[in-house]
Amino acid sequence: MAWLCSPCWFWETFSASPVRFFCRAKPQDDGFQGNLSWPRPLRSKWFAIVLLLSFFWAYEVFALWSNPWWTAWIAVGYFAAAFLVDSIFRGASFCKYLCPIGQFHFIHSLVSPMEVKVRSTSICETCQTKDCIRGNEQKRGCELDLFLPRKAGNMDCTFCLDCLHACPRNNVGIELVTPGEELLRDPQRSGIGRFSQRWDLSFLVLLLVFLGLANAAAMVAPTVAFEQTLAEFSRTPVACVKTIVFLSMVFFADLAGGRRRFPVATLEP
Ligand code: SF4
Ligand code: SF4
Repeated sequence: MAWLCSPCWFWETFSASPVRFFCRAKPQDDGFQGNLSWPRPLRSKWFAIVLLLSFFWAYEVFALWSNPWWTAWIAVGYFAAAFLVDSIFRGASFCKYLCPIGQFHFIHSLVSPMEVKVRSTSICETCQTKDCIRGNEQKRGCELDLFLPRKAGNMDCTFCLDCLHACPRNNVGIELVTPGEELLRDPQRSGIGRFSQRWDLSFLVLLLVFLGLANAAAMVAPTVAFEQTLAEFSRTPVACVKTIVFLSMVFFADLAGGRRRFPVATLEP
């Protein structure tokens, strides 16, 4: 799945690296990457959820899978969006707050058997420099604002390993963990907060499960026939019927979540 994150890899390679090489900038300098902070009201997954929903809606209604030109333009648009956002805002804002593929990875990483984590918390207690998040002359710190001693689980971690290379005490590693274990605890997580207060994450999990089932359902003959019949009966274009069916399923998925109100989470590091 790593190739799916190629826009970010491409941007890292062709923006920051040459600037660092030619200008002898420090690793923590961001090259062509922006310095603005991502707007505080948008520091949640809601924007990414809207993008994800829009994509799957367009996928179903306009049959994107059967149109190579649309596929190509979506890929180009994806690169352009990643470049634009990361050239304006600091801190991997595109990955963290917008990227639908990134959210897909983050949610599935909740049951990963591996995690980037500190080896010994007692070593961190005596650490004065906190290079894992601040960076140093050679390596930059975590762009996602995850402070390793208070990082719990894989949420928002892109496995870039910047923290691992930045830690001067070699105290960060890729460790084996029990898949799903982190879901049994609810500590205050660096950069995330508590899962129990993140309704956007709950909705994202629900949505990804629902979209997987809905996507499969939309491809089978009975569903296609049902939509055709409905369109003929109501004399409505098939695209409109598909939209109504899609939004109805989202509504019921939302109801299944048991909440009708989702407060915006606070994402303090
Ligand atoms: S730099 Fe290394 S030792 Fe220091 S706080 Fe970060 S992980 Fe711990
Ligand atoms: S691997 Fe380390 S630096 Fe990279 S996102 Fe995860 S915690 Fe941050």
